[in-house]
Amino acid sequence: MSIISNDINKAIEVLLQDEVIGFPTETVYGLAGNIFSEKAIDKIYSIKKRPSFNPLIVHLHSVHKLSAIAKNIPDIATELAKKFWPGPLTLILEKQENISCKITANKNTVAVRIPNHPKALSLLQKIPFPLAAPSANPFKSVSPTSAQHVYHYFKNDISFILDGGNCESGIESTIIGFKNEKPLLYRHGAVSIESIEKIAGKVSIITNNETNPDAPGMLLKHYSPKTKLILTENIFETIENNRHQKIGLITFYKEIISSSVQHQIILSKNKNLEEAARNLFAALIELDEMNIDMIIAERFPEESLGRSINDRLTRAAF
Ligand code: AMP
Ligand code: MG
Repeated sequence: MSIISNDINKAIEVLLQDEVIGFPTETVYGLAGNIFSEKAIDKIYSIKKRPSFNPLIVHLHSVHKLSAIAKNIPDIATELAKKFWPGPLTLILEKQENISCKITANKNTVAVRIPNHPKALSLLQKIPFPLAAPSANPFKSVSPTSAQHVYHYFKNDISFILDGGNCESGIESTIIGFKNEKPLLYRHGAVSIESIEKIAGKVSIITNNETNPDAPGMLLKHYSPKTKLILTENIFETIENNRHQKIGLITFYKEIISSSVQHQIILSKNKNLEEAARNLFAALIELDEMNIDMIIAERFPEESLGRSINDRLTRAAF
C-alpha cells in the first residue's frame, strides 16, 4: 500500500501536476484536486463516476480566502462560519466569477468549508489554491473514513493518498444554504441542526426530490453497501422475519443475542451519538466484505446526530 503516505510534500508535488489525491478530513476522506485545474476536476468526476449535475465542495484553510471564492455573503453565514469553522459545516454561497461552473455544476452558488483536520489544514496552507474535494467513494457507495477505504476504492485510479488516520466525525458535513438570507438545510451531517439553530434561528429543511436542481446531493439512494440493508424500528421482529438469512447487524448500543445473527457491530456501547456517527461507515464497509445475505440496522433516535445517521441509513436502505 505504498501509495498511502504521511508525506505532505509528496501530496503537494502530485497536486501541482494537476493530479488528484486521497485527502483526509475530519468528516470523511475526499478526492482532492486544484479548483483551478480543469484536468484535476475532470478526473475527480470521472473516477468517482459522479454525474456532472452534482457539484463539489471547495476546501479552504482560512476564512480570509473566502472572498476570493464567494460574494454577497449573508450575515448569518458569517456567524455560522465564525462558530463552526474549521469544522464539518459547508456553506452554499453566491460564487465569484472565476469559480469554474464544473465545480458548481453550472450553478451560481458554490459550496465551501474549512476542514478541521491538522493534515488537511497544513496541506491547504502550503498550496496556492483551494482544493475541490467530494467524498472519496464511487458514486452512491459508502463514504470512506480511513486511508485504507480510499485505497480499496481507488488504488487503480490515483497515485497518492495522504494518511490522516481514522476520520474523527466519520459522517459528511452538514450543508446549509440561504434563501433571502434565511438558512436552508441541504444535507444533515456532522453538525446537528439543533446547534445550528442556536446561531441561525429556525432552519428550513429541503425535502428530497430527485430532480430538485438545488439539491443534487440528496439522491434517495446513496451511501449504499452492495449487501441489501434493512433499516428497522423493531430489531427483534426484523431478525425473526429473516431468521433463515445470514444477518449482519448494526445497533446503536445494545448487544442482541440471536443465533440468526452472524456478525454484530455495536456503534457506541456508551450510547454516544458522535461515537456512533464516527463508526457508521466503517461498519457498513466491514459488513459488506463479509459473506452475509443482509444487513439489518437499527433506527436511531431522531435527535441531534441521530438524524444524520438515520438520513444515511435511509438512503443506504433505499
Ligand atoms: P460530497 O461529494 O459527499 O462531498 O458532497 C458534496 C455535496 O455538496 C453535493 O452532493 C451537493 O449536495 C452539495 N453541494 C455542493 N455544491 C452545491 C451547491 N452549489 N448547491 C447545492 N448543493 C451543493
Ligand atoms: Mg459524497
